[in-house]
Order: sequence, then C-alpha cells, then structure tokens
Amino acid sequence: MPHKRKNRGRKKGKDAGHVKYVHCTLCHARVPADKAVKRVYWGSPIAGAIAKELTSQGTLITNERRTVYYCIRCAMFHGIVKIRPRDERKKIPEEILEKRFRSILGA
Ligand SMILES: [Zn+2]
Repeated sequence: MPHKRKNRGRKKGKDAGHVKYVHCTLCHARVPADKAVKRVYWGSPIAGAIAKELTSQGTLITNERRTVYYCIRCAMFHGIVKIRPRDERKKIPEEILEKRFRSILGA
C-alpha cells in the first residue's frame, strides 16, 4: 500500500509499540504524544498590572514553565507549525508528476 509519509506523520518508529496520549490545549482532542506539537512557554503566573505593583514593592515573582500540546490541525490553523517552502520539500520524480497531470487532464 502506498504511503504519503514514511513516518506516518509521527516520531514513533515501527518497533516502539504503545505511546501515551496527550490532550490538545485548544480543542482537547486526544493525540498520541509523538504526533502532537509540543511547545514550552515561560511566563509569570501573575498577569499584568498586579505583577508590576508587586515587583515595585519588592516581591520576587518566579517565571513558570508551561508545557503545551497542540494537535496538528490546531498547530496549522494557529500558525505554530507551517508548511515548508516548495524547494525545501521532497522532490517528486517527473514520471509521477506526469502521471498525475495525465489523470487530471484525462489525456
Ligand atoms: Zn487541537
């Protein structure tokens, strides 16, 4: 059977077996951890004006590490992951391209 992607869009090898699932932060879809897009954000747990006031009074506010997972659909939609430029992508052999054009044109 032909495959569009060699790794099936995942980092898991064929011998890895079961991979734990994570939830997408935006749509709460259940996604395999190796397929999901993982991002780590550092930020203050206290927002805006309150944080500024507290620091001016001499309070030490430590930054918090936040791990976020996105499903592929959400990552693409929100621009976290982008499609690679055409010249960076895999080269399609000309025979296959010709075949595709023939099927489209019906010649
Ligand atoms: Zn999602």
